[in-house]
Amino acid sequence: MPVAPPDPEAAPSDAPEGTPQRLQQARAVLKTVFGYDAFRGLQAEVVEAVLAGRDAIVLMPTGGGKSICYQLPALVRPGAGLVVSPLIALMQDQVDALRQLGVRAAFLNSSLEAAEADAIERDALEGRLDLLYLAPERLLTARFLALADRLELALVAIDEAHCVSQWGHDFRPEYLGLGLLAERYPDVPRIALTATADAATRREMREKLRLQGAREFVASFDRPNLRYVVVDKADARTQLLRLLRDEHPGEAGIVYCLSRKSVDQTALFLQRQGLAAVPYHAGLDAATRRTHQQRFLREEGLVVVATIAFGMGIDKPDVRFVVHLDVPRSLEGYYQETGRAGRDGAPATAFMTYGLADVVAMRRLLAAGGASDDVKRIEQGKLDALLAYCETAGCRREALLGYFGERYEGPCGNCDTCLTPVATWDGTLAAQQALSAVARTGQRFGAGHVIDVLRGKRTPRVEALGHERLPTFGVGEALDERRWRSVLRQLVVAGMLVPDAEGYGVLRLGPGAAAVLRGEREVHLRRDPERRREPRRAARGRGPSQPELEPSARARFEALRAWRAQRAREQGVPAYVIFHDASLREMAERCPRTSADLAEVAGVGATKLERYGEDVLGVLNAPPNPLASRARR
Ligand code: ADP
Ligand code: ZN
Repeated sequence: MPVAPPDPEAAPSDAPEGTPQRLQQARAVLKTVFGYDAFRGLQAEVVEAVLAGRDAIVLMPTGGGKSICYQLPALVRPGAGLVVSPLIALMQDQVDALRQLGVRAAFLNSSLEAAEADAIERDALEGRLDLLYLAPERLLTARFLALADRLELALVAIDEAHCVSQWGHDFRPEYLGLGLLAERYPDVPRIALTATADAATRREMREKLRLQGAREFVASFDRPNLRYVVVDKADARTQLLRLLRDEHPGEAGIVYCLSRKSVDQTALFLQRQGLAAVPYHAGLDAATRRTHQQRFLREEGLVVVATIAFGMGIDKPDVRFVVHLDVPRSLEGYYQETGRAGRDGAPATAFMTYGLADVVAMRRLLAAGGASDDVKRIEQGKLDALLAYCETAGCRREALLGYFGERYEGPCGNCDTCLTPVATWDGTLAAQQALSAVARTGQRFGAGHVIDVLRGKRTPRVEALGHERLPTFGVGEALDERRWRSVLRQLVVAGMLVPDAEGYGVLRLGPGAAAVLRGEREVHLRRDPERRREPRRAARGRGPSQPELEPSARARFEALRAWRAQRAREQGVPAYVIFHDASLREMAERCPRTSADLAEVAGVGATKLERYGEDVLGVLNAPPNPLASRARR
């Protein structure tokens, strides 16, 4: 794009003394094109390195702002930037968003007609492109490489670079071929980006992509705007409904379930409750999946109920919640899936329900699986880490980041255990009673029957087996059923009870049980908080809070949203590529009267100002419409 020469007036004055001119220019482009006043986190350092022609490996969490790291240098350096991305389906939205900023962007993939692809290749050759997105298999064709040989390349960005790892679950063999770029274009800076944090993946990226000399930029993986909440599963659907209605009315989010069947049932349940919800799983035909994904991206406030087949690369910025109704497979999966919420930096919720049945099922699956002992040991370790996270009485953020090797000192003030500290209690006697009930009933029953015996319930089964005559019958009357489930769950997590490999939820004594029964070992248990309403929005903790807009600003915000929806429909693009919610909020709050004032709002660059400025000022400064404000209630 015709980048404005560095204009000292436009550059924010906070640029430190002696900042290289390149970086000054980059700051000016950040403001004029993207509408942002300052770089975030490591962006400035990455941009500076790439502008200096160096290779870079960039690890930032989702929402950390990776795109600027390559989009901006591609605009400042001469020539076109190539962006390798594995997800053809999402290229269109990325390119649409760039075009809204006035950036000359295009993609090449199999969805294009030959004539369209030819035109794009011509644009590239004649220097009319700033950014060109394509899948790795396309880049590696002889035809494209021959074209690339003739292009002036500003840089090559390799997005989702962890796809090169053979051990990761996103492995894409075509990524392995990208190493050849090192020899073919030795003078073109390459930048590999990912939100996958572990050191092994990083080493593989460096080696396979031949980025030996690259500088490594590792951001904190904390997502301060995400509120982590894990609750004891009582009635998962009611818990879900309460969350959606009380905390996130009219907002978009993802609800993960383990099985296709529970996806379908949960989506139906939400629809019957009057919520806009659709299912997504691998059992639906491709067209339905595509429509549901498109609706999620384009509509406001849609809930997608899905298996983990949904979500990779979804870069919708305003996902306000991610719910796990079933326990995720690992903390890696949990981090990645919850990370899809709140990319825009505004408050969002990561909510999980978790119960005894989940723990029993997961432990059993692992024991019964046909994997080799080595694999089982690794999976065992991952499962233990996940369960420890669920059971922690400490700060969840501290536990989660600690698992990824990052030190974080809680309390964070934005997770359930920080907001409502969890008490622990001496559960030694309860543990002895439970273990003894399991032993006396012959290690042949599941939790339900064991709890009946403990609580002294004369069910037909209890009487048929004569279990009312056992010495443990009725010893545990003091605790209700929910508390007993919590005790058993924690004993399973601690390995004192183990699910029988044959199934049906049968519990047997585990290795740690004997010491407890002999009174040689104390047991400390977590007291699951009583069911209560989740803290309301207004009571947000240390994480960035989003105060309610005052009524007149709220009215302006709604008017802007309606205007945005209409412009998005006309152009066939998602609403957020026109303006993010955060920009609309700021406009509604500050209510600028002039185009110069409007340009101060984050996310308003020169092109958007020109395109939409007059409209926005018109909406903001229109006399209030009494009908509209009544309709909102
Ligand atoms: P990632 O690709 O790392 O998930 P994105 O590049 O999509 O993250 O950026 C996440 C969000 O942060 C986007 O909404 C983007 O507009 C915003 N953003 C990025 N950089 C800045 C910045 N310097 N100032 C303000 N907002 C930014
Ligand atoms: Zn915390």
